[in-house]
Amino acid sequence: MLAPVPLLFDQCSMRLITAPLTGSMLAASVYAVKGFYPQWFQAIAFMEEGLLFLAGLIAGIRLPDIDLLLPGFSHRSGITHSCGFAALFVALGFDAIAGGLAIGIALHLSSDMQPKAWTGGALVKLPWFGSIGMLSPLWLLLNIAGCFWILLSMLPAIEGIGRWAVMTVGLLGGIWYFFYEEKKRVLPLITLGFCLLLVHQYRDGRLNVEVVVQYFV
Ligand SMILES: [Zn+2]
Repeated sequence: MLAPVPLLFDQCSMRLITAPLTGSMLAASVYAVKGFYPQWFQAIAFMEEGLLFLAGLIAGIRLPDIDLLLPGFSHRSGITHSCGFAALFVALGFDAIAGGLAIGIALHLSSDMQPKAWTGGALVKLPWFGSIGMLSPLWLLLNIAGCFWILLSMLPAIEGIGRWAVMTVGLLGGIWYFFYEEKKRVLPLITLGFCLLLVHQYRDGRLNVEVVVQYFV
């Protein structure tokens, strides 16, 4: 009898690779059709932003845990568990992908807010510095807020039907996530709501350092 072939990656690790890969392939397909078959692209042009946003969302949901597979990274690396990937795509000018990544990463980080205990693998680690201990939940909160900041910054730049497509994809993505992926929904949903409100109030000018200081002093 043949000995079983050892698996290089288990099923869980595979999803960490396949999800970002699927997102990248979807984005690449959109750009390929746009570049090589402009006539065909006319037919799906109205979906461009929605599809790119979806590509970012698919990739973003699993991307933070890619640290499990990267050599030299400890789990809950502060580099991957951050809004950094989304900010990078903003800097590169891919706003729709950045928005999708932002919401995907925000969903992931909101789930990471409820570990069994704030010890060991649940704590965020920064390069050179190591574990940031009990600042980990604050790190996650700030980065979820960063994701929403990116999301709310890119939305006005998308016009007409594209904006509706993006918002629909984002909403359906969130519903799918809390229906199939995350069964303990209360704390992640409160966290997301709190961060969205915080960013919204800050952007509206209703929340600033002075207001916070006045509240406490
Ligand atoms: Zn994680």
